[in-house]
Amino acid sequence: MTGAARPGWVHLVGAGPGDPGLLTVRAVELLASADVVLHDRLIPPGALAGARPDAELVDVGKIGGGNQVPQEVTERLIVEHAQAGRSVVRLKGGDPFVFGRGGEEALTCREHGIPFEVVPGITAGVAASAYAGIPVTHRGMAAAVAFVTGHEDPAKPGSQIDWPALAAFPGTLVFYMGVRQLERIAERLVAGGRAAATPAAIVERGTLAGQRQVEGTLETIAAQAAHAGIRAPAITIVGDVARLTHSLGWLRDARPLLGTSVAVTRARAQASALAARLRALGAHVVEAPAIRIEPLDAPLPDMRGFDLLCVTSPNGAEQLLRRVRDARALAGPRIAALGPGTARALRAGGIEPDVVPERAIAEALVEALREVPVGRALVTRAQEARDVLPDALRARGAQVEVLALYRTVREPLADADRDAVLGADYVTFTSASSARFLHEATGGTLAGPRLVSIGPVTSAALRELGVEPDVEAAEHTPDGLLAALLDDAASRSRADPGPSG
Ligand code: SAH
Repeated sequence: MTGAARPGWVHLVGAGPGDPGLLTVRAVELLASADVVLHDRLIPPGALAGARPDAELVDVGKIGGGNQVPQEVTERLIVEHAQAGRSVVRLKGGDPFVFGRGGEEALTCREHGIPFEVVPGITAGVAASAYAGIPVTHRGMAAAVAFVTGHEDPAKPGSQIDWPALAAFPGTLVFYMGVRQLERIAERLVAGGRAAATPAAIVERGTLAGQRQVEGTLETIAAQAAHAGIRAPAITIVGDVARLTHSLGWLRDARPLLGTSVAVTRARAQASALAARLRALGAHVVEAPAIRIEPLDAPLPDMRGFDLLCVTSPNGAEQLLRRVRDARALAGPRIAALGPGTARALRAGGIEPDVVPERAIAEALVEALREVPVGRALVTRAQEARDVLPDALRARGAQVEVLALYRTVREPLADADRDAVLGADYVTFTSASSARFLHEATGGTLAGPRLVSIGPVTSAALRELGVEPDVEAAEHTPDGLLAALLDDAASRSRADPGPSG
């Protein structure tokens, strides 16, 4: 079934184990349309960002002191909202029917005659295992898998769990909620006949940025987990498959920036592209929009009088394209883009630039234009920019007009954002102005994180502020910056391998 969340309906939705990419398409669709979202604590970061701005978002995962909202209260809220004719999404970590009390909530809906839909989610037992390189079943190794709650104290009389049967279970055991009981669980299994040497692994914050794991055996795992300070949420995998993590662990290769926090300081729109790339590599991204683009009221002159139009930044390209009502207005002059990013932004608007230097700095464009005859040039750019390009063209005898299309404006940085930036492992600088603005927004200190500059101009701006960049990109594009950051992170993790995971 597809479509928007339905009024008067309850949608019991699994949010997956934590990685936002593991939300289902249906979950995203329902979240985007619901009137009310009643959500747990363990939901992916950013999952609620796609909710309607006017949706009521209720955290039923905890109240003031951090206690769980009582189940009856949650169920009463579900019923009240649905009976008032609202579309309700009940968003739960993992799968709603796997240790999620979704069954109870569905029964309550049934009792009240409220229609409901269930959207399965990827359950932590499967997802965290997969992210640790542990297949829960494996030919010749495990033909069955059991999901078990580790919540109960196994020593408690009247336990719901038949420990001897579980010990004898011919397959993989996956324990949820078992961190505190781990020692007793292991003892119970060994007492029931499982070999003490059975491989076991525990995965903390599986699929999330801080995923960690320890591997051992039934005999050692509890002490190892305690030693590593493993805490909830974590799942424990018991069985031969657990040792496959040594040959199948893949996360470090696919997400080399896992556990690394990176602050991004571009103007908002562009920050998200770089941020998305960083997230895909596993980084925790702190978006600190120190600058914002403000269009200036600057109409384009009649282009027929020019034989060269220079576009000097992706923002400039965007602002230029916005001013063009009729594409033919740009048909006359040659068009030069200051670097590949600007060229891409022009192409997105259907313009193929004639001149594009490989490096996105003014000097490189001057060089690329050396053989190009220029009579009258229009240089479009930000209000605050260097004069290298117009000066060089004038020096060649060209008539040059400069048109500022936009200016970059400081965005105030909230205290929490400033702390997050200064606490990050890396701060990236993609322009001289972002360097200056962020330096000011952080109160004139950038001590702590490693500072990554996109190129010499930005580095010079940092040095002027008395800060030395730790890394400078060899290629002066966001891709180049990313490559430089990855290199640096790799060499540092070689120097200090840190904990497993
Ligand atoms: N309905 C959820 C489980 C809820 S019970 C699901 O299907 O996944 C909560 C327990 O799930 C936690 O105590 C922990 O054992 C496990 N869990 C949830 N998210 C996890 C994660 N990202 N990594 C490891 N375990 C997780």
